[in-house]
Order: sequence, then C-alpha cells, then structure tokens
Amino acid sequence: MKSGIHPDYKEASVHCSCGTEFKTRSTQEEIRIELCSECHPFYSGVQKIVDTGGRVQRFQDKYGDKYKNKMAQKETKETGAKEEADTKASSDE
Ligand SMILES: [Zn+2]
Repeated sequence: MKSGIHPDYKEASVHCSCGTEFKTRSTQEEIRIELCSECHPFYSGVQKIVDTGGRVQRFQDKYGDKYKNKMAQKETKETGAKEEADTKASSDE
C-alpha cells in the first residue's frame, strides 16, 4: 500500500434511525443510516415505510382509495387465476 494517499481506516459507530447502534470500520467515525438489519422489512418481516418529507402520506391522501381498490381487484384476480390453475393441475392427474 502506498503511504500518504489512503484515508485513515478507523473504528466507526453506525447509528440507525430505529435506535440500533453498532460498530464497524470505515474512514468516517460516525455514520447515520435510516435502515439497518434490525429494522429492514427483509429481516424483521414487518412492513415499514420510511416516509421522507411526508411523500408517502401525500401520495396516499391523493390516490389512497384508488390505489387500495386497484390492489384489491388485482388480489382477487390473482387468487382466482391461481385457483383455476390448481384445479387444472389436479384434473390432469
Ligand atoms: Zn434500524
């Protein structure tokens, strides 16, 4: 490694918006994040919306009902199609 050109690689504490803190190593001493492995939906299994500046709220205020109706329609369609496929598969046997 060439000397004098690399930034200092030191211990860093990471602060998540959910309150979790952990240590890692980085060129920065403090890192602030919005999601971590404790609170990300992939790991927690709970849906969480990171609403920066109330954007999601504004969207739901404007299109909330339409979006919900559309999703409900889609869901019934999808389950209907699946049931059809299931019956088809069983009738083939
Ligand atoms: Zn977190």
